[in-house]
Amino acid sequence: MKKVLFNLTDGELNQFVIDMGLPRFRAKQIREWLNRGAPDFSVMKNLPIDLREKLNQVAETLPVKIVQKLESKDNQTTKFLLELNDCEQIECVLMRTTYGNSVCVSSQAGCAMGCKFCASTLLGLKRNLTINEMFAQVLVAQWELRGDKLNDTRPNGDANNNDVSHIVVMGTGEPLQNTENVIGFLERANNELNISWRRITVSTCGIVSGIDALNTWGRPINLAISLHAPDDDLRTQIMPINNRYKIAEVLDAAFRFSDTHNRQLMIEYILLGKKNADGEIELFNSSPEHAEKLSNLMRGHNVMVNLIPWNAVDERDFASISGNAVHRFQDILIKNGVHTRIRRERGADIGSACGQLRLKNAKR
Ligand code: SAH
Repeated sequence: MKKVLFNLTDGELNQFVIDMGLPRFRAKQIREWLNRGAPDFSVMKNLPIDLREKLNQVAETLPVKIVQKLESKDNQTTKFLLELNDCEQIECVLMRTTYGNSVCVSSQAGCAMGCKFCASTLLGLKRNLTINEMFAQVLVAQWELRGDKLNDTRPNGDANNNDVSHIVVMGTGEPLQNTENVIGFLERANNELNISWRRITVSTCGIVSGIDALNTWGRPINLAISLHAPDDDLRTQIMPINNRYKIAEVLDAAFRFSDTHNRQLMIEYILLGKKNADGEIELFNSSPEHAEKLSNLMRGHNVMVNLIPWNAVDERDFASISGNAVHRFQDILIKNGVHTRIRRERGADIGSACGQLRLKNAKR
């Protein structure tokens, strides 16, 4: 197997360079390229061409390789299907927004959570991702934005258009089943890429022990809870994790986290419909009554409810609901004084939703 140079410590990289009979300063040059996210050695312009070729034969740069890259029609979203060294595949998404460039990072290959509306979990969990595998996803996005140009962060620390400015751990997998590595990854992103805590979001299906672990860690990041139902009966039907941790417990831990760090809690709520026997779409978790119940859970707390249109997954028997039904739901939250917005669908045209690309590829 080829050596992945990004995974080597500085000492190991020095030794690698020496073993190849090269002068020591090559290690420093290579490290700089690795830190910029160089996808292979051919881009390393300050190395002699024959050395670049030799390196390509014995080594790889990053622990993730781009298998497929899809661009949305509006050019705002790029989705990467990435392959790891053991041939597992993961997805990562770069979103160019008005407030900056955000990368959606996967924390596991596959997922064990079994949510009934989601594509990521259909093939089960393969394994946790390492710190380097998560960090490398950000570097892939960084290279996409900046290529071989150097970081041109302004002196006041503001990110430029070609920097990754935000990280959301909202890709495939449950981050709080891989908490230690997620924390290690975010520490590095903050440290080495200068991404401030308030521009980092971790999204969880509600693993209370993990939320408490984040609290102990103590960094003022944003927490997002995938709630998707306003009562335990309904939630248990679509999210098996609710058998373990009930809504009250999850929200309790989440409010504790957001209050401690003085952050607004993000609640994710997919508006689901379900086809009945006559083929009509019934509101599954998205009726006015559900909106009232959800309001009661949120009242008095500093939250933002993100209403998410469901991205259709062929294997799942849910349905999207009408725009009218979405707005009716939102109006009730607003009437009850709950902050809410409807999440813009990004990259729906490139299967950018939740494990769809990986699934499609696995089936081929
Ligand atoms: N496991 C974590 C993070 C990954 S899922 C969590 O549950 O939060 C990221 C978000 O996408 C979650 O809110 C998840 O419920 C949502 N999601 C999953 N499948 C979806 C789909 N088909 N359409 C819209 N959102 C989906």
